[in-house]
Order: sequence, then C-alpha cells, then structure tokens
Amino acid sequence: MDKKYKKITWKCGVCDSIQESYSNRRWDMDICKCGQSGMDLEESYSRQMGEIIIVKEEILEENE
Ligand SMILES: [Zn+2]
Repeated sequence: MDKKYKKITWKCGVCDSIQESYSNRRWDMDICKCGQSGMDLEESYSRQMGEIIIVKEEILEENE
C-alpha cells in the first residue's frame, strides 16, 4: 500500500543551516544547528519555533 507523506525542507533564519522534516516521523522535533529553530511536522499539523524559512514542500509516497 502506498502512503503519502510530506517533506519540508527549511532553513534557519539565524544560522542558515538547512534541515529536512518528514511527517511520517512522529513526535520528532527537528532542530537546526544553532538550536534556535525547530519544526515538528506531523500528518495534520506542524509546530514551528524560532525563525523558519520554508525552502521546499514536497508530497512523497512511501512504498511498503
Ligand atoms: Zn539555527
């Protein structure tokens, strides 16, 4: 069965490091290098802190 999930590539506005967040990783807060920014991406919502600049949003398929 194919399951869709979301991938967001984002950049911290403070340290400029690029991070990737996936909606299929549950309860996982992705933090940038300097620790000022983070994103918790879930299927139905995302929680953000700090200065997040969205670089790219993709819908991907999971093959099981
Ligand atoms: Zn940072």
